[in-house]
Amino acid sequence: MVFALIDGNNFYVSCERVFDPKLEGRPVIVLSNNDGCAVARSNEAKALGIKMGEPVFKLRDLIERERVTVLSSNYTLYGDMARRVVETLERFSPEVEVYSIDESFLSLEPTPGERLVALAEDIRATVRRWTGIPTCVGLGPTKTLAKLGNTVAKKLPELGGVGDLTSPALRSLLLSRLPVSAVWGIGPASTRKLCARGITTVAGLRDLDVSRARSLLSVVGARIVLELRGTPCLPLELLPPPQQALAVTRSFGERVATLDGLKEAIAAFATVAAAKLRRKGLLAGELTVFIHTSAFSPGPRYGASLSAALPGMSADTFFLIHEAHRLLARLWRPGYRYAKAGVIFTDLIPANRAQSSLLPVEGKDALMAAIDRLNSRYGRNTVYLGAIGLGERPWHTRFAYRTRRYTTRPDELLTVS
Ligand SMILES: [Mg+2]
Repeated sequence: MVFALIDGNNFYVSCERVFDPKLEGRPVIVLSNNDGCAVARSNEAKALGIKMGEPVFKLRDLIERERVTVLSSNYTLYGDMARRVVETLERFSPEVEVYSIDESFLSLEPTPGERLVALAEDIRATVRRWTGIPTCVGLGPTKTLAKLGNTVAKKLPELGGVGDLTSPALRSLLLSRLPVSAVWGIGPASTRKLCARGITTVAGLRDLDVSRARSLLSVVGARIVLELRGTPCLPLELLPPPQQALAVTRSFGERVATLDGLKEAIAAFATVAAAKLRRKGLLAGELTVFIHTSAFSPGPRYGASLSAALPGMSADTFFLIHEAHRLLARLWRPGYRYAKAGVIFTDLIPANRAQSSLLPVEGKDALMAAIDRLNSRYGRNTVYLGAIGLGERPWHTRFAYRTRRYTTRPDELLTVS
């Protein structure tokens, strides 16, 4: 078996470039929620020295001087583009593990070296043609080596986007030149431990005695050593693990001081979370609500959370808002300017496994289904409960520089003139 890891290059920026080719060849950064710090950078932005996670206020001068394009994150667009990439990859293998928003592992039939590289090039070209997203592909006999192959492909442009670590000779050569920190699963703490013992390259880690690796880095470390030697220890995870929790938490665009304001925010988050539960066919048995002030701004600080078992398994928006408000009323204290809140559902079970006595009454089910249909047809919040409020929404997350949600909102389609 051969593993391939396909990873989108500067994925968020690449999604933006598909719909605005003027961004090609220019420095572009994408910001985190509430436009706080840079979470994605084009190669040109990296070359200017902009670091991952750097707060945008520290970059003001640089942004102005170098005419860096600054964008809010557009997660709706990125999620939909990621889905298109995965659909394309499924043409090449029945076994695809979606590892993160821009990374997927594929299992490929073992093929002689040249043809394997040609196949990887074909995957890259097809993803590029069908979705517009540039990628790199890593190949290896294990997932750890495929991941390393991808890193090599990103570092060495002369490889043409494919890092093939299936051939033992090339692998030996490259592993002796790569720092041990390049290995998937070797974080800063493990790197320090290994370097202190003179193990600085990937080859050094590969040649480490397995029992020594286990005592130094636990069973995970032993597995990494075997994977680096070409012995697969990590299978593809084709089914996502059963969901343990579903959370909707947000930092507010502006501070919220009143109980009414928080009630609207919590109702809005519970509405989104309940719709997600229904889409996934789940019911929740336990609810947590939290609120807190900012850890960074001046003023008195307060934060608290409360959990409670629900009186019945549910995915009903009315019921869940009601229960969330009961917890909020016990949490809220006057005199604070709240910066963040959230609702978390746990104790999740598939709705079809619930005992019928626990199910909500049928009329409510039909109402929820009708609301979901209207909102998916005409856009989120076409129909919602008055509890969210009809006026200003200071708790809305700020996305001041967000591009249009080109692929999912009919009213935000790309216009051509
Ligand atoms: Mg990536």
